[in-house]
Amino acid sequence: PVKVSKICCIGAGYVGGPTCAVIALKCPHITVTIVDLNQARIDAWNSPDFNVPIYEPGLVDVIRQARGRNLFFSTDVDKAVREADLIFVSVNTPTKKSGVGAGFGADLHYVESATRRIAAVATSNKIVVEKSTVPCRTAESMRTILEANSKPGIRFDILSNPEFLAEGTAISDLFAPDRVLIGSLQTSEGKDACKALADVYANWVPKERILTRISSVNALSAICEATGANIDEVAHAVGFDSRIGPKFLRASVGFGGSCFQKDILNLVVEMNEYQKSRFSKTVVDTLFNTITGKHIAVLGFAFKADTGDTRESAAISIIRDFLSEHLQEACPNTPLESIKKSVTIVHSALEACKQKEAIVIATEWKEFQSIDWELVYGQMAKPAFVFDGRMILDAEKLRKIGFTVKVIGRGDRV
Ligand code: NAD
Repeated sequence: PVKVSKICCIGAGYVGGPTCAVIALKCPHITVTIVDLNQARIDAWNSPDFNVPIYEPGLVDVIRQARGRNLFFSTDVDKAVREADLIFVSVNTPTKKSGVGAGFGADLHYVESATRRIAAVATSNKIVVEKSTVPCRTAESMRTILEANSKPGIRFDILSNPEFLAEGTAISDLFAPDRVLIGSLQTSEGKDACKALADVYANWVPKERILTRISSVNALSAICEATGANIDEVAHAVGFDSRIGPKFLRASVGFGGSCFQKDILNLVVEMNEYQKSRFSKTVVDTLFNTITGKHIAVLGFAFKADTGDTRESAAISIIRDFLSEHLQEACPNTPLESIKKSVTIVHSALEACKQKEAIVIATEWKEFQSIDWELVYGQMAKPAFVFDGRMILDAEKLRKIGFTVKVIGRGDRV
């Protein structure tokens, strides 16, 4: 089997950045180069004062220790690809906005162009690892592209190694993953490639948590047969995820983020959208059925706490609902003008709450629990409403201060 000494990661985003930075930290003998076409993003990763483009607790420490030692960030995709033994493809796979699968299918054109680039520039054998969230059979398509476009005599082994990190806890998830899944063809070359990647993770992940027998990991029971997966193995692997269980089943205003929505069925996404709009409706209903002329503080804009990622966050849907609620008045011309006119961004929760009629908690940041609520109450118009979309506040305490409190998922009267 190949001994991996140079890794290239294509895509310096929420997944590629933290994942490969942790690999570099834990494997000082491997050189890791993370590449991206986005110059600004790479510049931020390289910034002298560690002003990295992604907020994750613990991330800066990892970068501080590994950057310049065996971890590099670059826009020179071709060079990094050429030099690497193993290449992670960790590019974005956004939900398609139009065409077949609009609203739920993944747009694979970034995966395709990264794959084509690998084929075009590779001058030696490569292990290509699909890390992006992709539909079943994508490895097959990548293989076809690589084999049809590469120079003669070059071998590509393709592995599936989906990432399970959750934004906000990416670094601790990567330090101690519930499990690492690696899928490959069951040929001897496929198994060798699988072993090479497993050996990388084995530098810090206990062997029993590295699962390499899975032949196709993107499927669940009903589709196993159609995709060639083995349900026993899939079930075994899913069981390792500690998020499946009580942690998963907490009511909230509706999850956001860009990965999860795509991973599950459209129906469930609709249910989630419904949950978000139901929350906005509760707010409007409670505010005597109209929010025209009212001032509402929305606390939190990221899709969850401890991340700077705002993609598809609940706050966006809620604010959009509020804007459309008083559209007639606020929006003379374009939507953008209306947003600029109606939405003010401030940097502190306390400031946001000043002189408002209502406060809406959209993200479960810890700091919202420790706001001086007495002070906030004193500065609000009365009656003062709090809508806790994340179940993080002590509702009883707030009621004692004088607030009218509504908590998502609780039918208590206001
Ligand atoms: P991202 O948008 O933050 O990062 C992707 C990066 O890839 C971008 O910076 C983009 O410029 C770059 N890129 C695109 N095409 C490229 C190319 N051809 N060459 C070089 N760079 C290119 O996305 P992300 O959140 O890191 O997600 C990456 C994948 O991982 C997605 O498929 C996502 O579904 C999956 N995933 C994400 C998470 C998460 O928590 N964010 C968790 C698990 C899986």
